[in-house]
Amino acid sequence: MVSIAQNILQVRHRLNAACEAAGRPADAVTLLAVSKTCPPEAVREAFATGQRAFGENYVQEALTKIEALADLQPRPVWHLIGPLQANKTRVVAEQFDWVHSVDRLKIAERLSAQRPAGLPALQVCLQVNISGEASKSGVTLEELPALAQAVSALPRLTLRGLMAIPEPAEDVAAQRLPHRRLREALEALKARGLALDTLSMGMSADLEAAVLEGATLVRIGTAIFGARPRPAA
Ligand SMILES: *Cc1c(COP(=O)(O)O)cnc(C)c1O
Repeated sequence: MVSIAQNILQVRHRLNAACEAAGRPADAVTLLAVSKTCPPEAVREAFATGQRAFGENYVQEALTKIEALADLQPRPVWHLIGPLQANKTRVVAEQFDWVHSVDRLKIAERLSAQRPAGLPALQVCLQVNISGEASKSGVTLEELPALAQAVSALPRLTLRGLMAIPEPAEDVAAQRLPHRRLREALEALKARGLALDTLSMGMSADLEAAVLEGATLVRIGTAIFGARPRPAA
């Protein structure tokens, strides 16, 4: 049986190779370990290898896990990468360090208002609907500049960049296209004067393509923790 520690080593090798192929320094990309559906013990195993950043999708599950892992030192850095509803913003503002899935001003305003005064600003990415399907969450490229301007003005948030979940594609060339669109969208916002530094893109199946297109943070679940149980239909 392959262990989580071995998987993390393998993912780090993939990341290093991808950075080298892209002519980027090996530390240019942060590895976010996506621990959704995994028990706290799995997070402990990853933490023991030095992994510090963890991504969660479901607020309730994440809160239970964060509490179960409250003894870890230094405290893990918790990233919310799943959809966020207005009635859950307060606990998220209190418990998370990052939110990648902001796609509406109302959610951002609530997070800013509810971020506790004793904590640093909440780090935020805007989720972009890069593949353009009606069903997926994320702001459209057309609406992105106005949302980015508004979010960047909120006092208790720091807008860091953009996140996307592209449609799966088979080969690296096809995988690169949506990642390139996201990078171009980030560059356009920076050209308008926003100080952004984060491109949250790349998952287990397409991290190489994402790194080639400039990802600064890849979100890796399956390649670290193994296949997730399918949700009951
Ligand atoms: C589950 C998930 C991931 C991780 O996907 P893998 O294919 O398991 O690496 C990354 N990002 C988001 C938003 C996810 O929901």
